[in-house]
Amino acid sequence: MLKNEILVNYAKLVLKIGVNLQTGQGLEIACPVEKSQVAEVFAKQAYELGAGLVRIRWENQNIDKLTYQYADQKTLCDIPKWLVDCRNSLIEKGFCYVAISADDPSAFKDISAQKLGAVAKARAKALKKFSDGVMANAIRWCVVSIPTLAWAKQVFPTAKDPEAELSLAIEKAMRLDTPNPLEAWQTHIATLEKRAEFLNYSRFEYVHFKNAKGTDLKVGLADEHVWISAREKAQDGVHFVANMPTEEIFTAPHKFKVDGVLKSAMPLCENGQIIDDFSLTFKNGEIVDYSAKVGYETLKQLIETDEGTKRLGEIALIGKNSPIAKSGILFYNTLFDENASCHLAIGKGYPTTVKNGDKLDLSELEKLGLNDATDHFDFMIGTPDLYVVGIKKDGTKVTLFEDGEWVI
Ligand code: ZN
Ligand code: ZN
Repeated sequence: MLKNEILVNYAKLVLKIGVNLQTGQGLEIACPVEKSQVAEVFAKQAYELGAGLVRIRWENQNIDKLTYQYADQKTLCDIPKWLVDCRNSLIEKGFCYVAISADDPSAFKDISAQKLGAVAKARAKALKKFSDGVMANAIRWCVVSIPTLAWAKQVFPTAKDPEAELSLAIEKAMRLDTPNPLEAWQTHIATLEKRAEFLNYSRFEYVHFKNAKGTDLKVGLADEHVWISAREKAQDGVHFVANMPTEEIFTAPHKFKVDGVLKSAMPLCENGQIIDDFSLTFKNGEIVDYSAKVGYETLKQLIETDEGTKRLGEIALIGKNSPIAKSGILFYNTLFDENASCHLAIGKGYPTTVKNGDKLDLSELEKLGLNDATDHFDFMIGTPDLYVVGIKKDGTKVTLFEDGEWVI
């Protein structure tokens, strides 16, 4: 478990840099119930910073598992209106929210992937209005993690004290081991923003990924795309950082201009199940073939969520020397693993990754090539030998990555 002093610094970091909580503003915190003391520290810090109201949403994977085991699919797919209203009210009332994700990566390994997929689909559909708002930055939000025993055991199966090891790894990834974490984050954000500026200035039409594993994929970029790094501006004009840690610079792929094959570089954990060693083939932006050595059925559920999850919604570049990549730890948690490797996401694209996107409607966004879907799933493709080239409209090629690391 994180020491109390570190936890206080952690909460301050997330509230100031992450959601950038403003005086009088409401805050919702989602937290595993077994870590209620973490929520208490966050709530106390939030009130001391001037929060108007702190609301907690407790989560419990053990009860979720029982629910999936015993309740039938039809019942579970009937998403109650109160839950939808509760989420929507965050945007309506100008709250911000912190999601503390600490899932056991294989909590639902014995549950039918089809059932999990059906429920996830129903939930994503019911909460579409809320997730659209989140992805268009109508709300300031931040996803972070804390160690739990079940998760730590998956990451450090042979360690004497897995939770202590995971705490240390999270502290490092969050720069909480530096003398002044707030300052360390400001410097980090500035470095990422410089690189994003270069990419925005370059106006690439395509990005081409290639490695020895078999990835050979040309990803077209949306018209008017904007590369974004750590810090974003919410619709209220206030900056925030949506994921902590974050090492990525990302933008919008063109939904009709993706061709070739990609091979996964790391396992992907979704719905409490693990997908590994998978491959996707694209033609004109659409997945036309896929395979997986582990978790094929779960992958199938993700891809077949709706028409939009058959296309890409995000392309993100991260070098192999990012602190998380250098740690060599496989976290089995996308929040960390996606910051160790170049990644893509199937599903909804962020409206903010095209110029003035938060003011455009869905059909205007589609004209620019931005994908829409009820969900969004990131997965890692960056290997230590990954070669990445940016291609401009006039055919000029600029090498961006050699051997998995930035060369610009
Ligand atoms: Zn990403
Ligand atoms: Zn993503």
